[in-house]
Amino acid sequence: MINAASPEQAPRADVLTLPRAAQIAPARAPRVLAVANQKGGVGKTTTAINLGTALAAIGEDVLIIDLDPQGNASTGLGIDRRNRKHSTYDVLAGETALRDAVVPTAVPRLAIAPSTLDLSGLELEIGQARDRALRLRNALSPLKTSAAGQTHFTYVLIDCPPSLNLLTVNAMAAANAILVPLQCEFFALEGLSQLLKTVDSVREQLNPDLTIHGIVLTMYDSRNNLSGQVVADVRQFMGPKVYDTIIPRNVRVSEAPSYGKPVLVYDLKCSGSEAYLRLATEIIQREKELCA
Ligand code: ADP
Ligand code: MG
Repeated sequence: MINAASPEQAPRADVLTLPRAAQIAPARAPRVLAVANQKGGVGKTTTAINLGTALAAIGEDVLIIDLDPQGNASTGLGIDRRNRKHSTYDVLAGETALRDAVVPTAVPRLAIAPSTLDLSGLELEIGQARDRALRLRNALSPLKTSAAGQTHFTYVLIDCPPSLNLLTVNAMAAANAILVPLQCEFFALEGLSQLLKTVDSVREQLNPDLTIHGIVLTMYDSRNNLSGQVVADVRQFMGPKVYDTIIPRNVRVSEAPSYGKPVLVYDLKCSGSEAYLRLATEIIQREKELCA
């Protein structure tokens, strides 16, 4: 008899596949985190790529939005410039729906809306428009309801440019919370108060629920006494907002983008990959506390 097996003996196909977060929990609006710091070279893009990959590895459905005209997140995830048919420029210019700019990456459950250099001209083009600061938020709103047959993202990470310009303001206006990478160097805290002031004014004028999700210390070098001092200073200044996880300086992390791969794919066992996996777990934990 074909149907002899009892329901207990006949596992459903979806039990055999890695569960998607959206299948475990009822569909909720994606959590939107803006990775922001107006300083360049502090680890924003590296964090967007590798935190995104780590969240996807844990079962989340992740979309990275590349909001830096340099397009480093897109390149670092192996998206060739020729394959950026629709970009975040087209989305913010109002010419393309965000869905149509999303391309899959080689990492399961991780997609990206890539950027191109056109994005650097956007501010001049839309600077006078009334909705200029809300373009990304408006573009994201259709993602909050999952259409049949389309991926329902559980996390959106926005990789911001190294500036407090209109692009970063768009990211802050669209986000639930901000994630700030700080490099373990002497001037780590320099500029932080300016960043926090910008967050305050976006909260007042555009996005009343905006919070600081957390501060992640990056490029920590245990051989350098200064790194330890910076960690102590930042923890004293920002208290529990600083994640427990610290990202070490690790050459594998800096090599991975030239292969178009996240470090978790390039070398899963290296200290950088392990740290980004810990950070993802910590972020999910903090999310549970924030959303409880
Ligand atoms: P941002 O996006 O803030 O400008 P990036 O993420 O591009 O910063 O990082 C700046 C540089 O530092 C890049 O060359 C990157 O590969 C390198 N880098 C970032 N994080 C690490 C790390 N943990 N260990 C070693 N190099 C890193
Ligand atoms: Mg960057």
